[in-house]
Amino acid sequence: MAQILVLGAGIAGMPAAYALKSQLGPKDDVTVVSDQDHFHFVPSNPWVAMGWRKRPDISIPLAPCLDARGIRFIGSGVQALQPEKNQVLLDNGETLSYDYLLIATGVEGNFDETISMKCPVSPAMPIRCSTSGRPRTPMPPMRRSSRIRGPSL
Ligand SMILES: Cc1cc2nc3c(=O)[nH]c(=O)nc-3n(C[C@H](O)[C@H](O)[C@H](O)COP(=O)(O)OP(=O)(O)OC[C@H]3O[C@@H](n4cnc5c(N)ncnc54)[C@H](O)[C@@H]3O)c2cc1C
Repeated sequence: MAQILVLGAGIAGMPAAYALKSQLGPKDDVTVVSDQDHFHFVPSNPWVAMGWRKRPDISIPLAPCLDARGIRFIGSGVQALQPEKNQVLLDNGETLSYDYLLIATGVEGNFDETISMKCPVSPAMPIRCSTSGRPRTPMPPMRRSSRIRGPSL
């Protein structure tokens, strides 16, 4: 029986875990570890930042979805990888062993180093930043001459 560990439950981690479990079958153990207990549909972050949707509208709880497919869920951050021992150390103090490791923890944007991103809240940020409670930067009023126009027909 193989132990497969998937780190991260985002757009990469969730479908990967589903596919692995369905193709490997009941004998092999698939475990998903995430520091969030919900899956967030990242491309809809701008809707939350703009106030068009609430955060629960674009997220679903992980545990019931994974449980229904026989996939174990551990809600904890990953603190350290120990590849020499085939182990992962979690923030909750637990150590997990694996035969196969899939790392799907996404990217961390360095927004302060990106000039065009230097506003308090950007829809391109992770959901926890989009809903940080800080006031949105008001859009500058659009001057008539700055409108983008399509070609004249
Ligand atoms: C506004 C916007 C619109 C987009 N539109 C599109 C589109 O139309 N089409 C398209 O293909 N792509 C689009 N993208 C890009 C797409 O959303 C990303 O490529 C995708 O979310 C990346 O998925 P991921 O699973 O790699 O990372 P994420 O979705 O970021 O998931 C990573 C997961 O890992 C968890 N995690 C991180 N660190 C740890 C840790 N240490 N321990 C435990 N868990 C951890 C996080 O909590 C998260 O759940 C868009 C992105 C944005 C911001």
